[in-house]
Amino acid sequence: MRQIIQIILHHSLTKDSQTVSWDAIRRYHTLTMGWDAIGYHAGIELVNNRYEILLGRPFAKIGAHTKGYNRYSIGICMIGNFDLSPPPDKQWDLTIKFIRDLMDVFRISKRNVFGHHEFNRWKSCPGNTISIERLRMKL
Ligand SMILES: [Zn+2]
Repeated sequence: MRQIIQIILHHSLTKDSQTVSWDAIRRYHTLTMGWDAIGYHAGIELVNNRYEILLGRPFAKIGAHTKGYNRYSIGICMIGNFDLSPPPDKQWDLTIKFIRDLMDVFRISKRNVFGHHEFNRWKSCPGNTISIERLRMKL
């Protein structure tokens, strides 16, 4: 297993349409971008009126989600665009629960949970409505 010391949260910037857009992202990353697999390790998406955690690239493999910070991190992606409105409570709660589980499994402290924009000031990812400081307080 590679060394994993950070969790980085993203949003997909797509509308969560209740169909599986996770697979559309996978197709974009593999067919259009030419990567071996989807860039994220997991996604949180509404599937048939229920939020589910969908697995992406294996945790053992280096992801493709945060330029310069992929080697030691896990990238997870909430499906939706959270620049203008925040994630629905159920999606946010599941995301927090999932991050807590990952923190336990990989022994990662909440100081090492980040939003993508903290590594790229030109991006708002995982969305302007999300405070990573407030997220860390809940972890
Ligand atoms: Zn991002």
